[in-house]
Amino acid sequence: MNAPHPSIQPTALPFDINTLPQGMYIGGQWRAASSGQHIDVVDPSTEQVIATVPDATIGDANAAVEAAAAAAPAWRNTAPRQRSEILRRCFTLMTERADMLAALISLENGKALRDARAEVAYAAEFFRWNAEEAVRITGEFGTAPSGSNRIIVDYVPIGICVLITPWNFPAAMATRKIAPALAAGCTVVLKPASETPLTAYALAALYEEAGVPAGVVNVLTTSDPGPVTAAMLADPRVRKLSFTGSTQVGRTLLAEAAKSVVSCAMELGGNAPFLVFDDANLEAALDGAMIAKMRNAGEACTAANRIYVQAGIHDAFAKGLAQRMAALKVGPGVQTTTECGPMITHKAVQKIHRLVQDAVERGAQVLSGGVIPDGKGYFYPPTVLTNVSTDALMAHEEIFGPVAPIRRFDTEEEAIALANDTEYGLAAYIYTGDTGRGMRVAAAIESGMIALNRGLVSDPAAPFGGVKQSGLGREGGQHHGIAEFMESKYIATTF
Ligand code: NAP
Repeated sequence: MNAPHPSIQPTALPFDINTLPQGMYIGGQWRAASSGQHIDVVDPSTEQVIATVPDATIGDANAAVEAAAAAAPAWRNTAPRQRSEILRRCFTLMTERADMLAALISLENGKALRDARAEVAYAAEFFRWNAEEAVRITGEFGTAPSGSNRIIVDYVPIGICVLITPWNFPAAMATRKIAPALAAGCTVVLKPASETPLTAYALAALYEEAGVPAGVVNVLTTSDPGPVTAAMLADPRVRKLSFTGSTQVGRTLLAEAAKSVVSCAMELGGNAPFLVFDDANLEAALDGAMIAKMRNAGEACTAANRIYVQAGIHDAFAKGLAQRMAALKVGPGVQTTTECGPMITHKAVQKIHRLVQDAVERGAQVLSGGVIPDGKGYFYPPTVLTNVSTDALMAHEEIFGPVAPIRRFDTEEEAIALANDTEYGLAAYIYTGDTGRGMRVAAAIESGMIALNRGLVSDPAAPFGGVKQSGLGREGGQHHGIAEFMESKYIATTF
């Protein structure tokens, strides 16, 4: 591994990057890629290469599936209580190492430390929650309506699972899949995003320490995800693909999985509306908008992507949001004072700026931000736009950055129509002082998740997922998350 960039204060990092796990993690072994090739990991705050990770080949992926298959019989037969206790130890270790993990996430992803700490807490919680769920998997027993036989329904592990995760939550998107899969008795191969592999590898070492047996979790990185994933999906022992990422890649993977009829869970893109009605508490709505927009510097699938504000409160809200956004401290994620870190790549900055320019060309006014700063790092300033046209590209595409587009509306019907004018349906936010209206609008919005007078919707105890082009299936929740990794087996019998 290369040395960290000198501009990062050593004291800011509570770990030595040279001591991080190196290699792919397959069958409990740390291995180099059989190609001998590497992928550079870049600090988005400095544009410097901070580490390299192996670039796995199809052969490496096949070895990972082999390792998962070898570990599967013992793991599915491990007592639920024992699986539960191992998962609980994963939670405990993640919680004990929260500072180190948060700093690592900030370093490779760029997000502000406070966001990274929140992510570690959220990510660890999937282990605690699923440790509790692992011992509560039950079946069903009944009498057939004809009275001729009994119906017994058992729930069994689905098989080997391929898990693919994005860079925006390097820890949580992985644990949201790994924890329920292991609780259900499955073994897995994780392919994290190329931009943020260090967190996934650091967590693999932690799982081992917690007692996860060799081969139960395997992790590999590749610069060639299409063919590598296709090879794994073609193996008949792989029975589940759980993907979090863009809708575009999700569609490709659904087509690939169809070839071997692999069960798919898809957590895809979003385009969340954020509705503020005249009767909303202005300060609460502003607080909520800052969380819904700026958690992770806007790089979240649940991020408020379109802010619709009723005419009577519009000007005060827009002014308040512009003031709050302009006051945010932009800087490297690992600096404790930072409130908005860099974007993940230069390409991401270019995309965000193109969307802002397009909105301005269609009549939007810039209240704050909108100019790419000079110097190193993939920074984009917190930006507020008003009068954003419904034709603007950002009304239909994920911005995935710190840009808040505001548009005025007059009636409740108009707000609902605007909210639903998207192919996505992941999250939506409603601020109103009238609970009846809040519930009415929540019922009318086509979305998997609604936050009513709240800026945050994610919770390991609630089913996370979207409708329309935002995905298939749910993660977390009382039974939804584990159910994705189980099959029912029905036995008809007479006695
Ligand atoms: P992405 O480009 O779709 O990549 C996601 C993952 O898929 C990465 O590991 C990527 O690997 C891999 N990948 C890319 N092409 C692939 C292929 N042909 N076959 C197999 N794997 C492939 O998404 P992203 O830019 O990392 O993440 C941002 C997107 O994720 C946004 O759309 C966001 O809304 C969505 N997201 C959704 C949720 C949710 O819960 N619904 C949560 C977080 C993010 P490489 O890194 O090597 O390209």
